[in-house]
Parts: sequence; C-alpha cells; structure tokens
Amino acid sequence: MVMNLVSRIKAIRSEIIDFLRELIRTPSTSGDEEAIAKLIVAKMEELGYDHVEIDAVGNVIGVVENASRKTLLYNGHMDTVPPGGMKDPYSAHVLDGEPFGVPGEVVYGRGACDMKGALAAMTMAGGILKREAGFEGHLIITGSVLEEAVESLGSRHLVRNLRLRPDVAVVGEATNMDIAIGHRGVLYPEITVKGKSCHASAPHRGVNALYRMTDVIQEIQKIIPELPQHPFLGKMSMAINTISVIPGALNVVPERCTISVDTRTIPEFGAEDVINLLKKALGKLELDAEVKLMEKQEKCYTGYSECLKKDLPAFYTSPNDRYVQRARRIIAATLDREPSIKPWVFATDSACFSEIGASTFGFGPGDEKFAHTAGDHVRVDDVVDAAVVYAQLASKL
Ligand SMILES: [Zn+2]
Repeated sequence: MVMNLVSRIKAIRSEIIDFLRELIRTPSTSGDEEAIAKLIVAKMEELGYDHVEIDAVGNVIGVVENASRKTLLYNGHMDTVPPGGMKDPYSAHVLDGEPFGVPGEVVYGRGACDMKGALAAMTMAGGILKREAGFEGHLIITGSVLEEAVESLGSRHLVRNLRLRPDVAVVGEATNMDIAIGHRGVLYPEITVKGKSCHASAPHRGVNALYRMTDVIQEIQKIIPELPQHPFLGKMSMAINTISVIPGALNVVPERCTISVDTRTIPEFGAEDVINLLKKALGKLELDAEVKLMEKQEKCYTGYSECLKKDLPAFYTSPNDRYVQRARRIIAATLDREPSIKPWVFATDSACFSEIGASTFGFGPGDEKFAHTAGDHVRVDDVVDAAVVYAQLASKL
C-alpha cells in the first residue's frame, strides 16, 4: 500500500503543479479570497471529497472520511500579501531554479511559497486518499482567510465551529520540508500619552505630549534586555515602529502622542503579561497615559465582520510529542533524509489549533526566506514530495 500511495501521487505530478499554477493565477490578497476559495471547492468536489463547504467567514472546509476515531486537520491560508513591485506576480511561470540558488524547476508568483504550494499539495493528497482503499481516518483539509492580517480571524472562526476536534493539526506554512514545532507570538500594544495643546509660539502654556513620549521610549528601551527567553523559541523582543501625534500641525503643541510596540512573545508570556510589564515601566514616570492592545475591525469577503485584538499567540509543541516523533519517522522514510525539528521565525495561525488541544506542528514546501519577497517561488519537486508526505501522514499517523 505504501508504494502504491507514493506512486499514485507521483503519477499525478503534472496535475498537482497545474492546480498550483491555477491558484497563483488567482489573486487572493487578504479580504479578497472569494475566487480562490471557489477554485479549491471545485477541485475538492472534482476529487470526490465526502463533504465540502465554505463557512460564514469564507474558509474552505473539505472532509475525506473513513471509519476511524482519529481526526487529522490540515490547514493552509488562502490569502497572500500584496504583490508590491513584483514582476508578473500572477504569471505562475515554471522557471529554472538557478537564479534563486535552488536546484530543479520552480513555480514563480505571489503566494507560491506562502503558501499556495502547500494548499495545492494538501488538496491533491486528499483526493488520492479518497480513492485509496486502505485509508482509515477522518481528514479535514482547510483553507482559511485573513491569515496575513495578524488577527487570525479565519482560523479562529474555523476552530470555534469544527464539528470534530482534531487529534493532530498540520499547518502547511513553509518549513523547507522540515518540521516546525513552534514560533514566537506577535502582538501590538499601543501607548497614548496625553498632554495639553497650545499655540506653538508660546509652548510653555501647554504640555507637549511628544516630549513626554520620549521618556516612555527610553523606559521601554530599558526593559528590552530584561525580556524573558524560551529555551527553544528564543528571546522575546520589542520594537517601537510607529509614532503619531494629534493634531499633527506644524504650529500646534501636540495634545496626544501614540506609539505602537511590535512585541514578539513566548508561550509563558502573553498579552496580559506584556500590558502589565509596560504599565509597570510607565508607572515610574508621572504621566497621563493609556496602554492597550491594538484592535481592528476585519471584514471578510462574505460580508462577515468582527473586531479583533492584534494578538497572534506563540505556540510550542514538545519535540517528544508522539505525533511529532511519528511524523519525523514517516517524513524521513518518505524523503530519504532526516528532517530537522525547528522553530518558525515568523508567526502563523498554529496557536488556534494547539489551543483546542490538537498536537500541532508545521510541514510545508518552500523556503521562508522567499516568503513576502519579489522572488516568491516554490520548488516543483518539493510540492510533489509534500503531497506524498501529506498523504503518508494521513494514512499512517
Ligand atoms: Zn503564511
């Protein structure tokens, strides 16, 4: 059966790559995923999935089921970042990998690496498993919306409404065919300092909120070296990247000044801890200040709208987790090389799945250093091999 499954996927190599190219030719920036969702639904129906639906926020959910008590969930996000100055972002050309420094052919285009390569591989693997007589399991393949928007609206909605809790969740973000078992979280606190505005010709009549903010910035820089560390995921970090004032006129002393603090978190130190830490640091200064998490009203292509905090939690699964260890053995046997077990540098929707109790890890084609770049591409061989791995994991995990 093992050889059978591998050879059946290799036999549809061109079908997998054609589907990937169709996904890339269909633009799907965050909030605009309707066309790609319909494309994936049509492919799942064509492949004979047992159940296919689009939920209220626009996620695609496809199910392949056979008698089994174990449920496995595959997740990929359907949205991409904008193409920026990329040349022919939706061409989906098949090119020689040499200019990118990789062997063999690649598919080029926005979202190739992050993460349409994995979406194509997962969807096609589900189709092969449906036809595989020996497959026992309940496999849910999901394409979520709005991952790149930081609030995980799509995946949060997905896990709230799942009929079956997955025992294992595999997120297909780029791992370069290794296993990712965690990443730091990202959240955005916002600090506003209040002063008193006045005519700038007589600044002593007011309180300049911008001047007060410089004290805040210095206090934050003092706490950065003391931020906690995780043995596997590394150190927390903070960076102040934006500043704005009200009213923001050349000749008015500003009455309000606001900064945002990009904060990378670890599992034991979440949003509440970060807010408390900042409040404590500001407590040393005598200020009229407010510290809160930034929020955003996100709107889906279906019309659904929800206000969410800018907080993507960290996640970590032990390398000794039995499913991680089984996946490592299956991937090693399939690819004929030992995959490394590593953290992701960037944040993903993974915490949504680990928070509901699924053993969660990442496996996907693509090298993350090309994600969000003008050189966005994925290796053809890796996409096909990823489809083999997804099929093998589902049948053996
Ligand atoms: Zn991604």
